[in-house]
Order: sequence, then structure tokens, then C-alpha cells
Amino acid sequence: MKLAELFNGEKTVFSFEVFPPKRDKPIKTIYDTLDALQDLQPDFISVTYGASGSLADNSTCEIASAIKHKYGIESAAHLTCVNSTKAEVTEVLRRLADNGVENILALRGDLVPDMPPKKEFLHASELISFIKEKDYSFGISGACYPEGHTDSRSQVEDILNLKKKVDAGAQHLISQLFFDNALFYDFVDKARIAGINVPIEAGIMPVTNKKQIERMVSLCGASLPAKFTKMMSRYENKPEAMRDAGIAYAVNQIVDLLSCGVDGVHLYTMNNPYIAKRICESVQSLF
Ligand code: FAD
Repeated sequence: MKLAELFNGEKTVFSFEVFPPKRDKPIKTIYDTLDALQDLQPDFISVTYGASGSLADNSTCEIASAIKHKYGIESAAHLTCVNSTKAEVTEVLRRLADNGVENILALRGDLVPDMPPKKEFLHASELISFIKEKDYSFGISGACYPEGHTDSRSQVEDILNLKKKVDAGAQHLISQLFFDNALFYDFVDKARIAGINVPIEAGIMPVTNKKQIERMVSLCGASLPAKFTKMMSRYENKPEAMRDAGIAYAVNQIVDLLSCGVDGVHLYTMNNPYIAKRICESVQSLF
């Protein structure tokens, strides 16, 4: 099933993101994670793609295929392009199609230090056009940024570029993480005014330790509201309290998003079923 078809008004979509295990960990670890996540019955699970773009580094296809065929949950494979050639992307598309993966989250990807970009794709919209030309009939999703992408000079410029991505064929968008729902609502309003009419899922990351969030925020530039930084300062040296406060913060964000009629919530699980379970137990009946 194409992800866009899930947004049919019957229920608000609730999805998860997982990442393939690091190279030094056995692939089995992700299946232990998926065994636990399966019970939470998300509408789909997406699987990230290594930033290097290297096929050898990526078990994304295998995991996305298993989610769909072994676990019976719809899946999406992330695919980046800036560090890949068209021939390499063509090979990944063939593999995804051969393995019955139906959905792709098409991304530019970040530039990797010491790895010059291949320059065959400059933006996600070019990857989307390329996938459509290949005519595999994948469902195609794209990323969006409630606070603007860090490369953009302004949010307006970023939203105009987002429109190009949707015009190229993205049927559904998943947002970067954010901690202030007001920024997300403002972004969605502007996107709608710009004529972006596809479903927009809100990306929610439960914060469970200070280091994790400092790393994420330095990468993606999400702003931290005062109530969030106060929470981190108060509990940073108490791991259990920090975890519980992070879960409660994510639950509050989700309740507010659902009350305001969000199209969907995409939970960055960080491959941590315990935290996903705690969140689901609090909000599952609200979807
Ligand atoms: P683009 O849509 O190409 O946008 C990047 C920048 O270029 C923006 O500033 C945009 O305004 C501008 N731009 C876009 N189109 C044009 C155009 N036509 N002309 C001029 N400027 C343009 N990274 C990974 O490596 N692996 C993953 O699995 C992964 N998953 C992600 C999932 C989500 C939900 C999100 C939000 C991000 C993910 N990322 C992942 C990170 C992502 O690769 C980076 O944020 C990357 O820097 C931008 O990717 P993009 O697809 O949004 O790029």
C-alpha cells in the first residue's frame, strides 16, 4: 500500500522510524527491536539510509522488506542521493522493487566530511523526478522542516523549494523533529498557503538524555523552548527522571497535535521499544 493512501480520514496516522544497526552490531538486533515494536501496531515503519549512500553500508532494503513481509506492517525505505550516482540509485531502486518495498522517503542527504558529493543529484526533488521516470510505481514521500532547513536563507525560500518537491511527485511529507508545536502549526499554515496539499506528519523525538539532544539539535537546528531546557537542566544527572520527563514531554506534544487535527505523528523511536511502548500506552486510544 502507498503511504498516502493511509491518510484517508479513518484515523490519524501513527508511524515509527527505525535505523539499521551500526556496522559492529549484528543485523539480528534490529529484528529484536521490530519484534517488540510490532505489538504496538504502527500504521507504517520507515527505515533510515546511511548518509554515505554506499550500497555496501545499507541494510535498509532488507529491513524494509522484512517489516512488510515478515511483520505485516507497511514500510518505507529512506533513500538519499547526494552521495550517489544515478547508476547507484538505479541499482537501489531495482533492489527495493525486487524485494517488494512499495514506499520510498526520497532525501537529498547530508554532505559527508571527506566525501565529495557525486553531483549527479543536487536536491531531493531531482531524486523524486528520477524515481518517477523509472516508472516503478513507488509511493514517494519527502522530508520537511518546520523551522526551515539549515541550508536555507529563509523559511519562505525553504517552503517554495518544498513546493517543488511536492510538484515533482512527493505524495506525503514527514517533518524534522521539533519541540515547540506552535512552530509546526505555523509551518503547516504557510505550507497550505503555498499550495502544498499533501498530508504532513509531525516528527516527534522523545528525548531521553541531554547528550542525545545536543547532538541532534546541532545537526538539525531545532529550537528548544524554555520549558524544555528547564526540564533538561533539572534532570540531566538523573537518567531515570530524564527519561520519564522526556517521555512525558513527547506525550504532551502528541496530545496537543492530535487535538489540533494533525495529519499524522511519526515517532523517531531511536530503536528503543521501551520508550515507544510507554508513549503508545499513553496515546494509542487518541488516534
Ligand atoms: P532537499 O529537499 O533537497 O532540501 C535541502 C536544501 O536544498 C533545503 O535548504 C532546500 O530549501 C533546498 N532546495 C531543495 N530543492 C531545491 C531546489 N530545487 N532548488 C534550490 N534549492 C532547493 N538523512 C540521511 O542521511 N538518511 C536518512 O535516512 C534520513 N532520513 C530523514 C528523515 C526525515 C523525516 C528528515 C526530516 C530528514 C532525514 N535525513 C536523513 C536528513 C536529510 O537527509 C537532511 O536534512 C538533508 O540535509 C536534506 O535532505 P532533504 O531531502 O530535505 O533535501
